[in-house]
Amino acid sequence: MIVQLNEIETAVNQFLDQAFSPDLSLIEWRQRLVAAGWAAPSWPEDCFGRGFTAEQTAVVDRVFKTRRIVGAAQVGPRRLAAETLLVHGSVDQKNRYLPSILTGEHSWCQLFSEPGSGSDLAGAATKAERSGDQWIVNGQKVWNTSAHHADFGILVARTDWDLPKHQGLSYFLIDMRQPGVEVRPLKQMNGHASFNEVFLTDAVVRQDDLVGGEGHGWAVATTTLSIERQGFARGRNPRATHSAPAQGRVYDEEAKELEIDNEPYTWYPQREGRPDLVFERARETGAISDAAVRQEMAKLVCLSEAAKISARFVAAHRKLGNGEVLPAGSIGKLGASVIARQAAQVHTMISGTDAMLSGSGSPMDGVIAETLISVPAISIAGGTDEIQRNIIAERVLGMPKEQRQDTGPFRDIPRNIS
Ligand SMILES: Cc1cc2nc3c(=O)[nH]c(=O)nc-3n(C[C@H](O)[C@H](O)[C@H](O)COP(=O)(O)OP(=O)(O)OC[C@H]3O[C@@H](n4cnc5c(N)ncnc54)[C@H](O)[C@@H]3O)c2cc1C
Repeated sequence: MIVQLNEIETAVNQFLDQAFSPDLSLIEWRQRLVAAGWAAPSWPEDCFGRGFTAEQTAVVDRVFKTRRIVGAAQVGPRRLAAETLLVHGSVDQKNRYLPSILTGEHSWCQLFSEPGSGSDLAGAATKAERSGDQWIVNGQKVWNTSAHHADFGILVARTDWDLPKHQGLSYFLIDMRQPGVEVRPLKQMNGHASFNEVFLTDAVVRQDDLVGGEGHGWAVATTTLSIERQGFARGRNPRATHSAPAQGRVYDEEAKELEIDNEPYTWYPQREGRPDLVFERARETGAISDAAVRQEMAKLVCLSEAAKISARFVAAHRKLGNGEVLPAGSIGKLGASVIARQAAQVHTMISGTDAMLSGSGSPMDGVIAETLISVPAISIAGGTDEIQRNIIAERVLGMPKEQRQDTGPFRDIPRNIS
């Protein structure tokens, strides 16, 4: 087994020398990557990976980047599905779904939120009923990012109405390309249409696509949410996932894939508040010499540095084998929200009323305006700020839990079903 970092570097280079050609099709190249365990080296050896640590994986990533080699498919909720399956999936589910996630042959969406159940995800009322060796699903999901591109969805549905709400849920993998699934796009106030409503009418799920067993959906969904929240803390920039431009079929096909996969996320850097543009804007407008603006910029820098230190602490803690820092995802996610809001506030101070303008001649050709109307989304997606605060209060600070009115059988709990 390879353990030394320099041995890893040599092994990756040898593999790439032998296996990579820019003339391969994208899928053929990624199939080679998956077969050799280099597509996701941090995944376990029996799940198409090599069981590498973060440090070892970073060596592999560096070689790919330096040599401009196309890696595994990254964009979209496919990673949420994959990492959840790594924890809770059966051997059969891992074998059936993980390779095509890595090759990019299949894309995924997350079917959790409903019109009457967002923060209160455990209140999901989409119904899944067992019928022989399959489940029949009826209900409505909403705010489902990328559902209009997705081949499969990770779905939370109610399988028992007589149990308390957290216990009656199950977690499924659903084929989105079937007659019982209707996807309708929703337009946002920033002009993009990343989300959808998804209507499920007698949609069919195979029994072997139930993840973690009947009634264990809440535990599986909690894993997905925790992975999602950690992603917010890391931030995302769709452009960063592009390989450097290079010639060849594999690069052309990757560029086409990214154009489709990134389409719902082009505004995501703006929802993070664009703190990276603050200094540039302050200098070019002269606002940098305004003491009040400088004060708020300093606050932004302090918040960003504190978030980085906190993320490093979590990474170091994990590296020492101390497991997950509970609830690291919630702290990081709340931090990302606070930073985004502060950055938007600073942009407003710098640009004044011009911050509302879009189109040519407006601040940064409309990027600042898009930032101001996109920032609220980061405080909602993946669990609102209030929900993160509740988690931190109860699980870190040990404060008393909210009084619950929703215990007992789910069918007896009053719900907003409008
Ligand atoms: C950019 C983006 C992407 C998204 N992508 C997806 C996706 O792919 N799949 C998916 O399933 N969903 C997705 N969502 C939906 C998201 O998960 C929900 O919007 C979120 O969980 C909040 O639910 P809600 O909108 O129903 O708000 P509600 O739950 O109705 O909340 C309304 C308000 O009440 C507050 N509130 C609610 N409960 C409490 C409480 N117990 N204590 C204190 N305050 C409370 C909330 O903080 C909020 O301010 C996405 C949302 C966004 C913005």
